[in-house]
Amino acid sequence: MTAGRPLALPGLRVSTLALPQVPAAPEAGAPPSAPVVGSPASGRASRPRRSTDELRAIVSAAAPRLADATAQEVAAWAAAEFGGLLAVACSMADAVLPHLISRAAPGVDVLFLETGYHFAQTTATRNRVAAELPIRVVDVMPRLSVTEQDAAYGAELFARDPAACCRMRKVEPLAAQLEGYEAWVTGVRREEAPTRAATPIVSWDDKHGLVKLNPLAAWTFDDLLAYAAEHQVTLNPLLTQGYPSIGCEPCTARVAPGADPRSGRWAGLDKTECGIHT
Ligand code: SF4
Repeated sequence: MTAGRPLALPGLRVSTLALPQVPAAPEAGAPPSAPVVGSPASGRASRPRRSTDELRAIVSAAAPRLADATAQEVAAWAAAEFGGLLAVACSMADAVLPHLISRAAPGVDVLFLETGYHFAQTTATRNRVAAELPIRVVDVMPRLSVTEQDAAYGAELFARDPAACCRMRKVEPLAAQLEGYEAWVTGVRREEAPTRAATPIVSWDDKHGLVKLNPLAAWTFDDLLAYAAEHQVTLNPLLTQGYPSIGCEPCTARVAPGADPRSGRWAGLDKTECGIHT
């Protein structure tokens, strides 16, 4: 294991955890992995997607059984149950969830919302993760490029109407991408925010019409970092630079020591979620 170093994250009690070194970037000139842009799940499935009634029945049976399951147990069950019709959502703040799921389901699709507004560190993390793990990173693209959105709605829509910007660049593209999968996995954790305090491990996602899995729901941030340290999982370097929650660059501010970890997201606005999980 890599030697640890003190870690000070605002508002988080992680003072003595060992963090893995961020692995060296792929050599210059070596592309990380060819981007897979909005590729449909159906092209990788070995069987047709089951009906909504069938999937709901699976949730009803599994939810109570897996309510206290470990993340590894949930990953193993999901791999066996959904096979190639399973997707992982990842913001590239860290690669813990892709690492965890790909150990049970190598080759799994990892959906990255390519909003066009990411920090350079997040894009670099995406590229590293795509090169390091046995996954297929799918860049989920908005219908409009940033330039086209600026032309249609004016520059910096995020500052005037972040709900509309998130809807066009995150919520709608993800909803379209999820069609065809039977289940998706998210890294939502209950301790992140009051709105996430009741997050179940397994549930039916009525909004998107598929099974939703939150295997890390009961994890603390310390648990996340401990897993990353144990398995040498890549972390976005911004995590240790005052950004415990990382979204698009224009809407993510550095968090003051002791403050709510998500207080840097849409800081100063009456907005706490992009709309994907609400
Ligand atoms: S987080 Fe900000 S920049 Fe990103 S999609 Fe939402 S409003 Fe737009």
